[in-house]
Amino acid sequence: MSRSARPTGVPFAPEFWRRTHVTSPEVQARLAGVANAGADLLERAAELVRASTNVVALTGAGLSTASGIPDFRSPGGVWEKFRPVEFADFQRSDEARREHWRYKAATIPAMLEARPNPGHEALARLEEAGKLLGVITQNIDGLHQAAGSRTVLELHGTNRHAVCLDCGAEEGIESVLARLESGEAVPACVACGGVLKPATVSFGQMLPPDVLRQAMELARRADCLLALGTSLQVQPAASLVEVAKEHGASVVIVTRSGTPYDSIADAKLDHPLGSCLPRIVAAALGDD
Ligand SMILES: [Zn+2]
Repeated sequence: MSRSARPTGVPFAPEFWRRTHVTSPEVQARLAGVANAGADLLERAAELVRASTNVVALTGAGLSTASGIPDFRSPGGVWEKFRPVEFADFQRSDEARREHWRYKAATIPAMLEARPNPGHEALARLEEAGKLLGVITQNIDGLHQAAGSRTVLELHGTNRHAVCLDCGAEEGIESVLARLESGEAVPACVACGGVLKPATVSFGQMLPPDVLRQAMELARRADCLLALGTSLQVQPAASLVEVAKEHGASVVIVTRSGTPYDSIADAKLDHPLGSCLPRIVAAALGDD
């Protein structure tokens, strides 16, 4: 194994396709990255973006907190009240499905009311300006699309609809929430009666292969990778940073915590994204 959880040279090995925590002790040891903050780093980040023509953004929960969507992993977060359900449990246990839908019913309504923040808008602007190839996101809130981003790869799926595990039929999430509200604890597929699941990727579940393939392609083509609001502790998203770096991209990390990749970053900032990302993009596009 390489120093990350991704086997070197075997990016499409089965384990790479599954959503997992980074658990390698060696990777964990690298979490002691020193976060820097300062105007010089903002300038440095802007310079790296300015010098690039194929920027790719990899985004996580930290980008959406300014939109009022809590990071469920943070202390006091929802995951302290609701245990994340493993995919295998969801498949085999009615009780696990009930628990998962209770969790979704408690969290999705606030997400549906959230609006994109200036960080989302800055990325849409960078794409509009022809400098950003696309956004790869771990978020399931749909806020990049709401901000106007066109190329958005949702590694962990979306909360915006549910999908039948048996026949693949989709149902809008508002409709499913209404069914939950009316007393269906475990809604079934209306087309075939099969197991309906939020269209998100649970722990232990395979990522959508086409989405992962496109994300890998973007990471390889990137000349600058922006890792934004992600602690880079969930695979395979985290390894995309390494892939981009190996293919010559500069790496800018903006997140509040240390990450396993801080030591290979060309700039590491811990500024709030909602305010610093618009400044980086404005400076890179020559607004100031
Ligand atoms: Zn079905």
